[in-house]
Amino acid sequence: MTTFVVVGGDAAGMSAASKAKRDNPDLEVVVFERGQWVSYGACGLPYYIKGEIQSLEDLVSVTPEEFCEERDVDLRMGHDVVDIDPETRTVTARSEDDEEVVQTYDHLLIATGAAAVTPPIDGIDQERVHTLGSMSDGKELREYVSRALGEGHLQQPDGGLACQFLETCEGPVGIVGGGYIGVEMAEALAENGFEVHLFQRGDRILKSFSQAASESVLEHLAERNVAVYLNSEVEKLSGDGMVEAVVTSEERVPVEMVLVGTGVRPRTELAEDAGVELGETGAIATDSYRETNVADVYAAGDCAESEHVVTGEPTYVPLALTANRHGRAIGQTVAGTPTEGGSIAGTAAVKAFEMEVARTGILDHGEAREAGFEPFTETIETKSRAGYYPEGGPLQVTLTADRETGRVLGGSLTSEYGEGAVHRSHALVGAVTEGITLANLSDYDLAYAPPFNTTWDPVLTAAKVLEGKR
Ligand SMILES: Cc1cc2nc3c(=O)[nH]c(=O)nc-3n(C[C@H](O)[C@H](O)[C@H](O)COP(=O)(O)OP(=O)(O)OC[C@H]3O[C@@H](n4cnc5c(N)ncnc54)[C@H](O)[C@@H]3O)c2cc1C
Repeated sequence: MTTFVVVGGDAAGMSAASKAKRDNPDLEVVVFERGQWVSYGACGLPYYIKGEIQSLEDLVSVTPEEFCEERDVDLRMGHDVVDIDPETRTVTARSEDDEEVVQTYDHLLIATGAAAVTPPIDGIDQERVHTLGSMSDGKELREYVSRALGEGHLQQPDGGLACQFLETCEGPVGIVGGGYIGVEMAEALAENGFEVHLFQRGDRILKSFSQAASESVLEHLAERNVAVYLNSEVEKLSGDGMVEAVVTSEERVPVEMVLVGTGVRPRTELAEDAGVELGETGAIATDSYRETNVADVYAAGDCAESEHVVTGEPTYVPLALTANRHGRAIGQTVAGTPTEGGSIAGTAAVKAFEMEVARTGILDHGEAREAGFEPFTETIETKSRAGYYPEGGPLQVTLTADRETGRVLGGSLTSEYGEGAVHRSHALVGAVTEGITLANLSDYDLAYAPPFNTTWDPVLTAAKVLEGKR
């Protein structure tokens, strides 16, 4: 019997395991997961902490029982893989009872994900300093919010938020990092009545989005009383075992809890020890089938690189769809149908209170020039629906293209929540992926009706405006 072994039981690992078993029921599929959760949606954690999602179990898409009983996957939870030996084609795992299990493989997938970065800040090891990378991190943060606001408040059967308990709120909290987790957590905490202070090292938040989008979200955070400190490198978290203040070169802000959201690093140690090569991004290098330099050893998800649709070069954008897509492709490959994982456009979306923002492709001019383009950018501000229609709000579209060819390189949109920035970005993903020009994009036959947009959808207008400036 051919055996497919998977290390890591979340998006990439479980997508691969399920697909392989479905396509080839004769395959033996063994998954080792060191933790107690599989197939969970870490993406939902900020909304669980906020109180919009009632239980951690709600974040699980397929339960361990379903994997074992319905999908016939041999799932070994609480098993930490400590060694891969490509010579003997074995992996060694240690169980929670400290027992060693040696498992042979014909095909192996490394889907070990990424770990939240803990920067070398003095005082970061104290109590009430959290990161948000795992289900247990999410549980701890929710418990903190619950304790601070009064036990049981988040269990309201009507799903209501906790703001009614504000009088019991303990005090200000700090967030280090203005990426998407920092912004989502600013919402989760502020909507529960916490006074939120967000510290960002650079001169803008959400820096993978357009400058215009960063500025709009910054303004919106201020409207929601989130204090954002730009160009503020955190030097120290002061306290005597329990964090008391965030200290930068300019400020000392008293806080009772700190969330550190300064990015992730791919978990590659296990792979490296087995002779698997990393790429320039620091994540595991693979070919288009997601196979590493070691024969029959694949890597996918947050531990691995992908290729960018625009440049064709390796890139590292650790997001959920990539993990699912690449895992699924590997499952298909090991089941007997070689399948490429596909490139990525770096498409991402964030909700910030009553705003939504999306991005895709290349927006950064330095990155575009490095790839041989002559980038130019324009932002238009318009309305999300027909002017005479009673609802709707401002909508902003930023497009970046190559001046010489007119090729659309990337785009970023903002709107009020529910007003279509994210859904509109999908047209841009198509344009970026297919190498479409501004002239072609402005000719797209997009749907129109007054409750949804203007006759010329803002995406079409943005393409026309930028083409006019070439
Ligand atoms: C708070 C938060 C919000 C997010 N929001 C979004 C979002 O809105 N949109 C989006 O696209 N993405 C989002 N993401 C990212 C998304 O969750 C990841 O891209 C996705 O989970 C990656 O899946 P993965 O399988 O590669 O890795 P992971 O989900 O990290 O899973 C890896 C698994 O491997 C296990 N493992 C590691 N080493 C070993 C070992 N040696 N032995 C056994 N098991 C091991 C780990 O325990 C873990 O369960 C978010 C992430 C977080 C933390």
